Amino acid sequence: MKDTVFSSRKLCPDTWLIQGDGCNSYLIVGDKRGVVIDTGFATENIQKYAQSLTDKPVKMAANTHGHFDHTGGNGWFSGAYMSAKALDIAKKPYPSLDASKYPVDYPVTVIGDGDQLELGNRILKVFEIPAHAPSSIAFLDTKEEILFTGDEVDSHAMLVWMQNEPQPSIEQHARNMEKLLTVRDDYKYICAGHEQVMGDAALVEEYLENDKRIMSGIEGEQMVMADDGPEDFVMYQIEYKRMSVYKNTAIGYDVRYILDK
Ligand SMILES: [Zn+2]
Repeated sequence: MKDTVFSSRKLCPDTWLIQGDGCNSYLIVGDKRGVVIDTGFATENIQKYAQSLTDKPVKMAANTHGHFDHTGGNGWFSGAYMSAKALDIAKKPYPSLDASKYPVDYPVTVIGDGDQLELGNRILKVFEIPAHAPSSIAFLDTKEEILFTGDEVDSHAMLVWMQNEPQPSIEQHARNMEKLLTVRDDYKYICAGHEQVMGDAALVEEYLENDKRIMSGIEGEQMVMADDGPEDFVMYQIEYKRMSVYKNTAIGYDVRYILDK
């Protein structure tokens, strides 16, 4: 395909990374159909691009969470799977984007813990892991042993919401990591929302270690907001925000929200 904003790379059989604008997208194909995990916010038709990579029908998108940099391309599909908690925000373009360029009139199928997306000899198992966003879910592909983690397990995990209070807790993130570790034998690789692509799944253990360090009283560094940070992200009360870097992980958090309240 020429003249497209998208590029792609085959990661393993029937599995592609697609990059356009906003986030990493992944095309996962089974014997019957394919789905695209996260759709970015390019204004070009990502469904058409994904369909050009496989003969199997690719009609549905699936979102790791409701942030628009992961949901903006959903409207090119016949529908999207997402958490019930994503419904409020998934169809709202960020202020800096031209809302008229995004089709948002698409049906949503709500998914949650225990659900499975059947692709034909390949399933994606759903695990709710809310912290970076209340709507976060991970998709486990037991066939190729990949865990798709969105923004919850990546080179950075920002546990900071765009409001004063409340904020997500480290304890909640730790609980999510423990949940993902209950099925640790089923995956070897992490495919995340922005940075990690076929990364070592030991990252999940390292995040749990980092969470536990913070809970034990080891405080991260004062957070500084990068000048080239995301245009639409407003950081509230930065004096309470810390960054804890440990092994291959980095957790941004609010020092008032280490344990559950
Ligand atoms: Zn996000």
